[in-house]
Amino acid sequence: MPKTLTSPQFAATLLRWHTQAGRKDLPWQNLHDPYAIWVSEIMLQQTQVSTVLERFPQLLQRFPTVLALAAAPLDDVLAEWSGLGYYARARNLHACAQQIVQEYGGHFPEQLAQLENLAGVGRSTAGAIAAFAFKLRVPILDANVKRVLARLFGINGNVQSKQVSDQLWQLAQNLLPTANEDMPRYTQALMDFGATYCTARQPICLNNENKQVKKCPFAGQCIAKKTQQVLHLPIKIPKARSLEFTCTMVIIQAQDQVLLQRRAANGIWGGLWSLPESSWQQQAADHLQQTQKIKKNISAKKLLQMVFTTGQAADLLLELSDKPESGSQLKHVFTHRVLRIHPWRIKLAKAPLLKTADYAWCKIDQLDRLGLPQAIRIIFRNWNLIHGGDKANELVTH
Ligand code: SF4
Repeated sequence: MPKTLTSPQFAATLLRWHTQAGRKDLPWQNLHDPYAIWVSEIMLQQTQVSTVLERFPQLLQRFPTVLALAAAPLDDVLAEWSGLGYYARARNLHACAQQIVQEYGGHFPEQLAQLENLAGVGRSTAGAIAAFAFKLRVPILDANVKRVLARLFGINGNVQSKQVSDQLWQLAQNLLPTANEDMPRYTQALMDFGATYCTARQPICLNNENKQVKKCPFAGQCIAKKTQQVLHLPIKIPKARSLEFTCTMVIIQAQDQVLLQRRAANGIWGGLWSLPESSWQQQAADHLQQTQKIKKNISAKKLLQMVFTTGQAADLLLELSDKPESGSQLKHVFTHRVLRIHPWRIKLAKAPLLKTADYAWCKIDQLDRLGLPQAIRIIFRNWNLIHGGDKANELVTH
């Protein structure tokens, strides 16, 4: 640690800063219930604060205790999570609640090692729960904190490497305040400082407009500032270029019902209800237009054969009442891939019996209540099967 900034100084400066400039009104602040703290921490991963402000109270209202969450069907939890993306978080939330009921009698464990063993709870989340709920002297190291420490202490190795990660964890541990009592406010202050002052693109020390009003309390000691590396730190390996895929999805509509398919538990949109789809084809970007043209002339038989077994497709064809209608392509951006979905609609005179539990007929007026991936929700909106919300042709979510 640089001699210019000792750990007592760091904690004291940060706590003082929080009193003057930290966030005080977020609904998950000043909580002592580990259940609510845990829900907020999971929801805040990869979701903007403005969205969590709305959805966190709703989820707590629907599932007010860990017992209520554990007892709920997974479908209800996924439905409540709908639109927040990264659905593995919702599945883990449910699995973790059941683990707490089964292994700890419905009470959150109070040891860091036990918290780290819960489904979907990583080291930093376990640290946050331990610090906020039980005042344990344990660090957190989320992306915001990594950025603050890398800048403040001029750590210019790749923060995704194990070596630098270990170094940052050690630093985070060394900087903790000595009194357990200070841990909740210190942890919140660290989060707030990274989220509002030492931000990724517009840290306060480089923001000329705000310079007169807001000042970084560490500006005199920050190594990145002194060496003019603020926007270069932390160092991360650039992401590989996203792969592009196309697929066809089919809305099979029989009067007031549509056919849904349950996705496999593992993988993208795991466990959610979706539309029958063809296998994903990897595409070079310049081939996409051509693919679009070819698909405009597709027959109902070919379309059904793309997404069903031969027997299922034949059953559905028997009930066909109209030729397929083509919808607008939807571009869906995942973390590491782009999917262009070409939606179609086929109308049937009546709904045939289903032969596997992976499929279900759903009343159109019930669609809005299901845990649907955001892309599927938008497809339904574009076809006026779900009302309200935005229609779109491009969607960045996960
Ligand atoms: S001086 Fe700038 S880079 Fe350094 S801690 Fe403050 S806001 Fe962050």
